[in-house]
Amino acid sequence: MLAKNDRAAWIKGPAAHCSNLPQIPARPRYFILLGAPGVGKGTQAELLSERLGACQLSTGDVFRAAKSTAECDRSPAINSALEAMQRGELVTDETVLDIIKERTTCMRCRSGFLLDGFPRTVYQAEALTKLLASERIKLDAVLSYELPLDTIVARLSGRRTCEKCKAVYHVQTKPPKVEGTCDACGGRLIQRDDDRPESVKVRMAAYAASTASLADYYRKRNLLVSVSAEGSPEAIYQRTEKMLEARA
Ligand code: AMP
Repeated sequence: MLAKNDRAAWIKGPAAHCSNLPQIPARPRYFILLGAPGVGKGTQAELLSERLGACQLSTGDVFRAAKSTAECDRSPAINSALEAMQRGELVTDETVLDIIKERTTCMRCRSGFLLDGFPRTVYQAEALTKLLASERIKLDAVLSYELPLDTIVARLSGRRTCEKCKAVYHVQTKPPKVEGTCDACGGRLIQRDDDRPESVKVRMAAYAASTASLADYYRKRNLLVSVSAEGSPEAIYQRTEKMLEARA
C-alpha cells in the first residue's frame, strides 16, 4: 500500500510538493464536507479519501500546522487567525480566502478533493463557486453530516489528538492502548485547545450562526446530500455511498 499523501502543498503552501500522491482515479471526485465540529466529518473524509483517491483539504489542518511554526515566521494574517482559533471563533473570511487562493493548485489536482472545514460561511461559499467556475470544476455533491447537539458536545469533550501524527482518539469510544499515548506513533495525546468545553460552546454558537445557512445555499443548487452521522464510521460511509449512488 502507498504511504499516505502528506498533502504538503495544501498544509505548507504552494512552494511545497506533496509526496506519495494517491493513484490518480479514473474520474476525479469533488466534494465539500459539512457538519458541526464533532460529527465525525474528519473520519469520513479519511474514508472517502482512501476509497475515492481524493485529497482531504482541511483548512483547520492548515491553521494547526501553522501553530507549530515559530511566531516570527508567521504572517500577521496567520497570527490573527491562530488567535481567533484559540478563542474558538471563526477566522475572518478574508484570511481564509487568501489561504485558499494561495492553494488553488490543490483544487486542480487530478486526484480530486474533499474540502473539509471550508467553506464555513455563505460569503466563503460564494467565493468558492466563482473560483471553481473559473477552474471549470464541477462539484459532485456537498455532504452534510448531521447529529443531535448533546451527542456532539459529549463527543468533542472526550476527543484526544496525537501531537505528532494527528491520529484521533476518544476517552470513551476509542481509547488508546496506553493512556495519553498514540497507538500509531507513540506521540503524546493532547486535547486540542478548541475542544475544551469553553471553546466548544463558542464553536457551536459560531457554527449555528453562520455555517448552518450553508446547507440552504447548496440545497438551492441541488448539491446538498444530508447524511445521518449516527453509528460506526463504516456504517456512515456505507450510508453516504448509497446516497451518492442514488444521485448518479
Ligand atoms: P476545524 O478543524 O475545521 O474544526 O477548524 C478548527 C478551527 O480553525 C475553527 O474553529 C476556526 O477557528 C478555524 N477555521 C478552519 N476553517 C475555517 C474557515 N473556513 N473559516 C473560518 N475559520 C476556520
